[in-house]
Amino acid sequence: MDTISYGEVDETIVAELRNIVGAGRVLVDGDVVEPYSHDEVVGLRGRPEAVVRVASAEQVSAVLRLAQRERVPVTPRGAGYGLSGGAVPVLGGIVLSLEKMNRILEIDKANLMVTVEPGVITANIHRAVEAEGLFYPPDPASLDSCTIGGNVAEGAGGPRAVKYGVTKDYVCGLEAVLPSGEIIQAGGKLVKNVTGYNLIQLLVGSEGTLAVVTKIILRLIPLPKVQVDLLFPFGKFLDAANAVSDIIAHRILPTAIEFMERDSLLAVERLLGREVPFHDAEAHLLIQLDGNTQEAVDADYEVVGALCLEHGAQDGLVARDRPTRERLWETRRKIIESLRRESPINHMEDVVVPRAAIAALLGGIKNTSRRHGVRIISFGHAGDGNVHVNVLKDDVPDDRWAEVVPIVQVEIYRLALSLGGTITGEHGIGATRRRYLPMALDECQMQLQRGIRDVFDPNRILNPGKIFP
Ligand SMILES: Cc1cc2nc3c(=O)[nH]c(=O)nc-3n(C[C@H](O)[C@H](O)[C@H](O)COP(=O)(O)OP(=O)(O)OC[C@H]3O[C@@H](n4cnc5c(N)ncnc54)[C@H](O)[C@@H]3O)c2cc1C
Repeated sequence: MDTISYGEVDETIVAELRNIVGAGRVLVDGDVVEPYSHDEVVGLRGRPEAVVRVASAEQVSAVLRLAQRERVPVTPRGAGYGLSGGAVPVLGGIVLSLEKMNRILEIDKANLMVTVEPGVITANIHRAVEAEGLFYPPDPASLDSCTIGGNVAEGAGGPRAVKYGVTKDYVCGLEAVLPSGEIIQAGGKLVKNVTGYNLIQLLVGSEGTLAVVTKIILRLIPLPKVQVDLLFPFGKFLDAANAVSDIIAHRILPTAIEFMERDSLLAVERLLGREVPFHDAEAHLLIQLDGNTQEAVDADYEVVGALCLEHGAQDGLVARDRPTRERLWETRRKIIESLRRESPINHMEDVVVPRAAIAALLGGIKNTSRRHGVRIISFGHAGDGNVHVNVLKDDVPDDRWAEVVPIVQVEIYRLALSLGGTITGEHGIGATRRRYLPMALDECQMQLQRGIRDVFDPNRILNPGKIFP
């Protein structure tokens, strides 16, 4: 934890903040700032002394200069849908909310680029560019709520990463405000750029610790004309996992391969109040294929179907029209919400391994669950080797829960690392995993990373208490 002592946000500072952004955009009252005291991590909270809802890079710059002068911590925030506590002001100070900077500034069809402000909800970018026959593939399951600024800061992924990659693969330009208040423009509408160090990729995934992103230029691709979704139920959990590796080994790259265990399906059923197809199966694979012709997509579909059946799939469901496809995906997108309803206290991990090791990872997690007598439900982006591991408290007594969670956490990290993986694939280190960063990075890399942070932010005012132990 940073041992620096920080200043408080007193009335004089609040008055200065009001001068910068306007009185209505500075929030200080208890009830009003409460929604900014947490993200989607269960049980983690930090009370902001002030929330400032900025409208421009210049305002961000002025707020950071003031915070720098007064040594006040500043926590950037998009929608607060993060799963590692990144937007939680664990040391108080100012929460810098980017939610009002939510304009899509330009869809440039000649250059296949879209320029957006950081507070745009990700799904709104999808809708806007798809109306023009263009495609922005990264699709975190939270896409209807999270912001593109949060996606950039977290290096967010999503189901379509199997074929199309993650947020970092689409960011070509950034405007960002450094902790000193300096505004920089990195990159542009360029598909190639090797001018000096790659600052863009350094800022992507930096979890709001190096700079505040105020404008983003994203690369677009043509929208595929045909999409089909396939649902395969498996009687044995590991058969589904083995099918994933085999599909990839057959040189077919589906758009998405999502894995869901029976307990997660049943939880979604209870949440939605209606039956999920094949709910007796031990696991489901939800596979999306896309392409520009029906023939090409159908050819892949035949191979994927045959492979799943070879691996013990009991049946298959094909969804070609949008409403049916949306219904299949609704199950997947509702898993986190429904597991929280089942067990309001739970713990979520986001480990990633090389794709071919997915069966070993899922099998190892089952062993951990048995060994410690806690219910663990895995689901997620199996085609990327990235699994969301949910440890449910259920009726485990509080003292046993407090004891067992760190043990399970470390065991799952060790398993992922032993398989050539790492401790987080897309949710980030944030506040919740920083103790464990040295498990994944050696001392030399820890020093390099700390050194980078200190070059950007020697006084550590930007999102302190995150990433580093
Ligand atoms: C139901 C659910 C499903 C999810 N599915 C996925 C998924 O499939 N893939 C995935 O990757 N994640 C997923 N997430 C996690 C989360 O949605 C992503 O991390 C998302 O990128 C967070 O965006 P946000 O706007 O909510 O960011 P916030 O939570 O507000 O902030 C996240 C981090 O970004 C920083 N930040 C935010 N905006 C800026 C900015 N403009 N400049 C600098 N730093 C900034 C914050 O300081 C913080 O460190 C899911 C979350 C939930 C609740």
